[in-house]
Amino acid sequence: MDNNTFDVIIIGGGSAATSAALTLINRGKTVAVVSNKTETSSLYKAEKVTNYPGLPPMNGAEMSELFRKQLEESGAVMITGRALSVLPMDGTFGVAVGSDYYMAGALIIAAGITREKLYPGEGEFLGRGVSYCATCDGMLYRGKTVAVVGGGEEARRDADFLEGIGCKVLRFEKNGRYEIRGGLKADTLVFSGEEHKVDCVFIIKDTVSVTKLVPGLVYENGAIQVDRRMATSVPGVFAAGDCTGKPLQIAKAVGEGNVAALSACDYLAAK
Ligand SMILES: Cc1cc2nc3c(=O)[nH]c(=O)nc-3n(C[C@H](O)[C@H](O)[C@H](O)COP(=O)(O)OP(=O)(O)OC[C@H]3O[C@@H](n4cnc5c(N)ncnc54)[C@H](O)[C@@H]3O)c2cc1C
Repeated sequence: MDNNTFDVIIIGGGSAATSAALTLINRGKTVAVVSNKTETSSLYKAEKVTNYPGLPPMNGAEMSELFRKQLEESGAVMITGRALSVLPMDGTFGVAVGSDYYMAGALIIAAGITREKLYPGEGEFLGRGVSYCATCDGMLYRGKTVAVVGGGEEARRDADFLEGIGCKVLRFEKNGRYEIRGGLKADTLVFSGEEHKVDCVFIIKDTVSVTKLVPGLVYENGAIQVDRRMATSVPGVFAAGDCTGKPLQIAKAVGEGNVAALSACDYLAAK
C-alpha cells in the first residue's frame, strides 16, 4: 500500500468523523481524515453544550478541540484541506484534495451541513467554467481572464497563484450578489448588477456542498439518504452526522459515525 492509499477515507473532521475514525482504528484499518480546520465545525459555534454524556457542560469550541485532539492522536492520517470531489472507480474511491489525490476502498462522508447557499449558476457550471480549486484547474486558464470569489488567506493565495501562472485575475472579496451566466460554459460573472466577462470563476470557500461531492448519491429533503447501516445509494460510501439529516445533535453524529465505521469494515471484508 502506498502513502496515499487507505482502507477508508473520511471526509469531515467533526464529531461524526472522530467517532468513525476511532472505531476504524480499533478495527485495525488504515484511515485518512480529510478535514477543514476545527473552527469550521457546527459544534465550534455552540455557546454551551449540556447534553453530551460523560463531559461536563462546556462551550462548543472547547468540545471541538477535545474531539480534534483525540482524532489527531488516534493514528488516523490527518489531511487538512477541502475534499473537492470524489471519483468512484472500479471498487475504489479517489478523493481530490487541492492538487493531491488519495485512494480508499471505502468512504465515509461526515461533512456536516453547509449553510452557505450556492450562487446562481454555481452548480450548473461547476466543471464548465466554475472551479473550487485554483491549483487543480488554473493551468487550463493560463493567459485568460478569471475571477476569484471569496475572502481570506486561501483566496488571496489562489489569486496570487493564478496571476503567477499568467491569468488575468479579477478579485471579488466583498459581500454582494453574484450570478454566473453562460451557455455551454460559464462566460460571465455578474457582481452587484455589473457584468464581467471571464473564462472561469474560481469560488474559494471552506465547504463544498455534499450534493456536489459524490456523483450518484441520492438525497432526501436535502440530506444524504442512508439506511440503518448508514449505507448510501453508492456501494462502499457511508455517511454519518448532520449530513444525513435531523436531529442535528452531537450524540446522533457520534452514534452514526460508529455505525458507518462498522459497516465500512463489513463492506471491505466482503469485497
Ligand atoms: C450554534 C449551534 C449550537 C449547537 N448546540 C448543540 C448542543 O448544545 N448539543 C448538541 O447535541 N448539538 C448542538 N449543535 C449541533 C452539533 O454541533 C452538530 O449536530 C454536530 O456538530 C454534527 O457533527 P458532524 O460531525 O456531523 O458535523 P460538523 O461538526 O459540522 O463537522 C463537519 C466538518 O466537516 C468539514 N467539511 C465539510 N465539507 C468538507 C470537505 N469537502 N472537505 C473537508 N472537510 C469538510 C466541515 O468544515 C466541518 O469541520 C449545535 C450546532 C450549532 C450550529
